[in-house]
Amino acid sequence: MSRIAVLVPGKIHERVLTRLKESFDVVEANPSTLDAEAAGKIRGVAVSGTFDSAAIDSLPKVELISSFGVGYDGVDAKHAATKGIIVTNTPDVLNDEVADTAIGLLLNAVRELPRAENWLRAGNWKPGQNYPLSRFSLKGRHVGIYGLGRIGQEIAKRLEPFKVKISYHTRTRHATAPYGYYPSLKDLAEAVDTLISIVPKTHQTHKTINADILSALGPDGVFINVGRGWTVDEEALAAALKSGTIGAAGLDVFYNEPNVPASLLDLPNAVLLPHLASGSVPTRNAMADLVVDNLVEWFGKGRPLTPVPETPAKG
Ligand code: NDP
Repeated sequence: MSRIAVLVPGKIHERVLTRLKESFDVVEANPSTLDAEAAGKIRGVAVSGTFDSAAIDSLPKVELISSFGVGYDGVDAKHAATKGIIVTNTPDVLNDEVADTAIGLLLNAVRELPRAENWLRAGNWKPGQNYPLSRFSLKGRHVGIYGLGRIGQEIAKRLEPFKVKISYHTRTRHATAPYGYYPSLKDLAEAVDTLISIVPKTHQTHKTINADILSALGPDGVFINVGRGWTVDEEALAAALKSGTIGAAGLDVFYNEPNVPASLLDLPNAVLLPHLASGSVPTRNAMADLVVDNLVEWFGKGRPLTPVPETPAKG
């Protein structure tokens, strides 16, 4: 009996391919290159990145699109839902890693640790010569978290032992979160001196971190982004860092990856990482397993493990 065909339309974690091949016929191809017969056999998709409405429409028998990563903004989940197609993502298994990275970025931005290390490696540490004191400290800060979902809550938990004040902004207030709630991002930015963004890429979050919000943070302000670069007006951020409107930033994500604007690269008070918040071997393996397990569960037992909210869950 022939096995179910699963399309892998582009580069994906090697473990996804290895495990998929144990259970499925894996077709590694761009869907636009498949002829009608081949496209008609595809029932599942495993994708890391983009799978738009045209790609979805080109596969008449597809039932489930399993997307690598918790952010699934590259997959047209709304369009898939209109056709009864399930989209899954990989939530929760990366919460700890991403939250750890957020804390690392925060400490690095506030205490200038990467710059200090570069200074040492460049041979500047000599008798009588010490790296300058960092202008900022984490002590006594008021940290605002923009997005208190799965990852935002883990960031907040990690911040508690640092004895900082914690507040947040989301559209819906959390009944149980023991932190100050601000119904608007502007109100949060005015109240805090440190802002961590961990919201998804949606129409509503586009460039919401703008000149106005940065100005509200103030000259001691620190901005950390582990969500999506889409959320930030990068020109406004670079200008704010350059002029001293805010003090420092730590960024794991950028508007047009992998292109990082020179205006940010040139700044000494920005710590910049190449979108690696979930990028450890154990965490990426767990994400890869969840991509495959969603397909295995759906085709074996008729229920997806982690459907996205847009998906009409079946089973
Ligand atoms: P969740 O869906 O669990 O949480 C999202 C949070 O954002 C919720 O608290 C939600 O609250 C809030 N939110 C959404 N839209 C808005 C809005 N318009 N205004 C205010 N708050 C909003 O997602 P996760 O915590 O699992 O992941 C968050 C995002 O982090 C992912 O979508 C992904 O883009 C990014 N990410 C980045 C990684 C990296 O490598 N740097 C790794 C993993 C994730 P409410 O709905 O009440 O507004």
